[in-house]
Amino acid sequence: MKIHEYQARALLADAGVPVPSAHVIQSVDEAVTAYNEIGGRVVVKAQVFAGGRGKAGFVKLCDNADQVREAAEFMLNHRMVSVQTGAEGIAVKKLLIAAAVDIETEYYVAVVMDRAKRTPVVMVSREGGVEIEVVAKENPDAILKRWLHPHLGLLGFQCAQLVAGLGFTDKAQVKAASNVIRGLVDVFLKYDCALAEINPLVRTADGEILAIDAKMNFDDNATFRHKRLQEMFDPAEENALELRAKEHDLSYIPLDGNIGCLVNGAGLAMATMDLIKLHGGSPANFLDVGGSVTAEGATEAFRIILSDEKVKGVLVNIFGGIAKCDTIAEALIAAAKEIGFSVPVVVRLEGTNVDRARELLEAAKIPQLIPATDLTDAANKVSAQVA
Ligand code: ADP
Ligand code: MG
Repeated sequence: MKIHEYQARALLADAGVPVPSAHVIQSVDEAVTAYNEIGGRVVVKAQVFAGGRGKAGFVKLCDNADQVREAAEFMLNHRMVSVQTGAEGIAVKKLLIAAAVDIETEYYVAVVMDRAKRTPVVMVSREGGVEIEVVAKENPDAILKRWLHPHLGLLGFQCAQLVAGLGFTDKAQVKAASNVIRGLVDVFLKYDCALAEINPLVRTADGEILAIDAKMNFDDNATFRHKRLQEMFDPAEENALELRAKEHDLSYIPLDGNIGCLVNGAGLAMATMDLIKLHGGSPANFLDVGGSVTAEGATEAFRIILSDEKVKGVLVNIFGGIAKCDTIAEALIAAAKEIGFSVPVVVRLEGTNVDRARELLEAAKIPQLIPATDLTDAANKVSAQVA
């Protein structure tokens, strides 16, 4: 799960990280009203689940109400295309407006899960700002890392090393920067983050240390235990098909190709996609109906897969264990009746009640349905159908 910058700022502020106050608005008029309350120089920022806003023109410094109006009008009426969005971009529904700060230096501070070391890592860099991806790639030594002890968290000496790595020597600033790093680590651990990032953390001309941009992603498997995060959930920013799948306890992953995959189990989904690729096809998505799928759940799965316009063929690959093949067959027949298949559907069923399933499918005589004998045959057939 992701949240907006303004929400991440709130979590940071609660953890004692200094974050300048901001207004969140949804219309041009509200933007102007907010400006009139703040006055002077402000920054207008699109609130979307993607970074690279500055370079895309969706972070604008403005000196008067007219400039704010123009920036708000632009951002609320254009999709933002940045290095992180893909060519279709994303719509902007909310803006954040805050007083501009007089930046002297921009720093990068983040905590991410390091899967290889199986513990979170704190990363800091003096070269913060909009180019951190370039720094990571071309000058990785400019990023200092310290790994959290899985039980003890960030230790005092590590925090001191990170602050020194950022180049702080002034006593008050050392204290302020330590406080920011500790606060960020606290948020990361408290809310089961996958990523918590402040970029940039800035030192202002008068020596203040402030977090002026924040980004957080959370482990979806842990959000059930964080009421605060559940309240922050913004369905408007989510993929509609993914949400629909979640409502039915299905997991749906959109991809770029044109073959829809209906499978049970993530491992089987991976194997299915590998074989599709091997036979020259490309998956448009995969929808995992899980172990204990009902006929209604499976019918909804077909609705979801077929409502994706990219899908030119479907591969149903079910290994019946707890999920029974005849349940899937019934769902296939129900879906064919209800929505009708506009594309070929290749079906490979194996396992519990497979004979009964084959009888049902044969009797139903669905013209678009192509039976396959095994997974290789199925991958071959579906790839040939969409080629
Ligand atoms: P993104 O990371 O999506 O590009 P940021 O919020 O980091 O968006 O903003 C990009 C850049 O805009 C920052 O690196 C900083 O230079 C400038 N900026 C952002 N907020 C302010 C602010 N309140 N005052 C002055 N400059 C700002
Ligand atoms: Mg940023």
